[in-house]
Amino acid sequence: MTPTHLDVSAGDRVLDYTRRFQRFHEDVVVPLEVELARQKVGTPWQPALDDAGRMHPQVWQARREVQRRAAAAGLYAPHIPVSLGGGGFSRMEMMHVEEFVYHTSGLGLGLAALAWTEGPAPHLVHAGAAVRRDFVEPLMSGEITAAFANTEPDAGSDVLGMRTRAERRGSGWVLSGRKAWITNAPYCDAAQVVAVTEPGAGTRSLTMFLVEADRPGFRRGPDNRTILDDGMTGELILENVQVPDENRIGEVGQGFAIAMTFINWRRVCRGGMCAGWNRLLVERAVRYAKARQYGGEPIAALQSVRHQLADMEADRYSARATSLMAQAELDELGPFAVPLAPAARRLISVLKVVNDEAFFRIADRAVQIHGAAGLRLGSVEEKLFRLARNLRIPAGTVEIQRNAIARELVAGA
Ligand SMILES: Cc1cc2nc3c(=O)[nH]c(=O)nc-3n(C[C@H](O)[C@H](O)[C@H](O)COP(=O)(O)OP(=O)(O)OC[C@H]3O[C@@H](n4cnc5c(N)ncnc54)[C@H](O)[C@@H]3O)c2cc1C
Repeated sequence: MTPTHLDVSAGDRVLDYTRRFQRFHEDVVVPLEVELARQKVGTPWQPALDDAGRMHPQVWQARREVQRRAAAAGLYAPHIPVSLGGGGFSRMEMMHVEEFVYHTSGLGLGLAALAWTEGPAPHLVHAGAAVRRDFVEPLMSGEITAAFANTEPDAGSDVLGMRTRAERRGSGWVLSGRKAWITNAPYCDAAQVVAVTEPGAGTRSLTMFLVEADRPGFRRGPDNRTILDDGMTGELILENVQVPDENRIGEVGQGFAIAMTFINWRRVCRGGMCAGWNRLLVERAVRYAKARQYGGEPIAALQSVRHQLADMEADRYSARATSLMAQAELDELGPFAVPLAPAARRLISVLKVVNDEAFFRIADRAVQIHGAAGLRLGSVEEKLFRLARNLRIPAGTVEIQRNAIARELVAGA
């Protein structure tokens, strides 16, 4: 496909959203951030952690309050189809929304206002009536949070190597296995678990199930502490957990495709997220370079610093341009269609690898320009550098993205 007519503008719905978000940020988010700072329990994205690695409950409660109030204000789920109660925004619209939210919020509580891994995701169009009523509705209103449980201690990139089993028992299913590196594992009210239902059946071997956290046999394992140090990642253990068939999300054997819908959503969200944070880092680096002195002159006068600023801007602009083009093309192809068009798979991987790597280079240069201040624990540059380093691994490593791009190029040649 050679696009000749792609429109990458934001449009009226985005303008309406960003105006409302700005007001919400000032009226709701900032006062909560001020209150959190007063309590000395860490910051939203660098919370105080207990010995087990769990975030301070007051930080979690502040995030939850933002989620609930954002949902009530119609800001939480613009990306979800109208049929599930969301805003029905296109990927192009979401790219602009995410860029605005990430630039405005920085590392603050405002990020919780837009549903993320723990909130509703596009794959939920495959949920049946019972899951919609008991899970999707409270998830949409921010009453509960979820986890997406695919990875295991011995199976990350190798999704089809997973061992968690779901076996039919009577009219329901029994799940057993262990999931690792799961975002929101310590706090989720329910997990969307991918399990083997037909061993050896390749991409038809998996099925997705909703598993509520209060079911007997559902246990939270140890936290997996990561470079992010945010108390959000951990293990989930399933020991003969019984779920009714109505908890199945999608058809039996469709779990791989539906899990990929969730993962691809995480991948395409990189576009606006990195655009927002990259812009913040470039602005902050320019400001710092103009203020910091060497020999009575701002370091912004030094060619080596100017070139780093120029490289940051070139990376920011080109990653954003790639994302805008890719989101527009994806809207035409159907970004979450099952089955997904091969060209969409390539575009999603191009978008992720370009953003992951540009953001990492930008965050690295941002630290360098700030000198020791950029390394200070808890500083914006230090935290975004750790976030950028992290992003090259979850939702499919940058190597896995290259595999997908090359696969389609070679197959299509
Ligand atoms: C902070 C964080 C949050 C996460 N959240 C979730 C979550 O909510 N839900 C969830 O299910 N998972 C989650 N994950 C897991 C994440 O998706 C996996 O870590 C990721 O897919 C990589 O798997 P792995 O860690 O097992 O690495 P491996 O797959 O073991 O890879 C190790 C190295 O080998 C390379 N490699 C492996 N296979 C290939 C190949 N075929 N071709 C080329 N290179 C290859 C990789 O690129 C990598 O460099 C999270 C991880 C982190 C760090």
